[in-house]
Amino acid sequence: MRDFSQDLSQLSINTATVRKQWPLDRIIDECARRGIRAIAPWRDQVAAVGLDAIARQLRSTGTRLSGYCRGGFFPAKDATGLRAALDDNRRALDEAKTLDAPCLVLVVGSLPGALDGQPAHRDIARARAEVRDGIAATLEHARSLGLPLAIEPLHPMQAAERACINTLEQALDLCDELDPARSGALGVAVDLYHVWWDPKLAQQIARAGRERLLAFHVCDWLTPTRDLLNDRGMMGDGVIELQRARAWMEAAGYAGHAEVEIFSDHWWAQPGGLVLDTCIERYRTVV
Ligand code: ZN
Repeated sequence: MRDFSQDLSQLSINTATVRKQWPLDRIIDECARRGIRAIAPWRDQVAAVGLDAIARQLRSTGTRLSGYCRGGFFPAKDATGLRAALDDNRRALDEAKTLDAPCLVLVVGSLPGALDGQPAHRDIARARAEVRDGIAATLEHARSLGLPLAIEPLHPMQAAERACINTLEQALDLCDELDPARSGALGVAVDLYHVWWDPKLAQQIARAGRERLLAFHVCDWLTPTRDLLNDRGMMGDGVIELQRARAWMEAAGYAGHAEVEIFSDHWWAQPGGLVLDTCIERYRTVV
């Protein structure tokens, strides 16, 4: 397994981790100043500063992306909504290309309207079919840009609102269906917060292999967890066996970044510099 204790070359910061403290241009500077060479930004953070300005700043600071957040949310209540989702995913891919991202992360969506507390229906099988069709349609544009799509399975507690793909096995079944040749255009983002509990995790990481393992997100699972979305833990503060999982990833051929992604009301209330310094220390010692 790679030694993370001596250098920061494989550390990436998902910029949601400090989104309450700083705008994206400041985050890039604060990361670069600390020797963090990679980030994964969110579309709204990029838009708030400007796509071209961010692209320039990434180049001038020598910062790379470990992924771009995010595409997806394919299901909709009607045909107009389905088309709008496809258009939005094309735009996300174009932005990702401008920023030279290695992949577009997909949070695939589920019951339309559920995120706002008003699900249009309860047919999760329909949502899954729309996700499959949406990814299939988006894959053509992704191939033309040479920019892979990374399906991120989300913990089943978010199956209604955010993603009807909830295990790595389910995500990989879809990859096999839509990209049987393992072309590299479609794969998965393994976010340990969502999949750490899965008894098939090791087996499915091995199944995915190098071509399908496009991103690796780390944080920790706190006990107790007080909020389903915004109570992620700092690495080392919870129960996820981070190094064991990283060993599985690397044994399967993954050689990319460990991306720290922490949505946390606790960490958003801390000074941004303290958060980044803590990420660095935990990356060196427990990731
Ligand atoms: Zn993630």
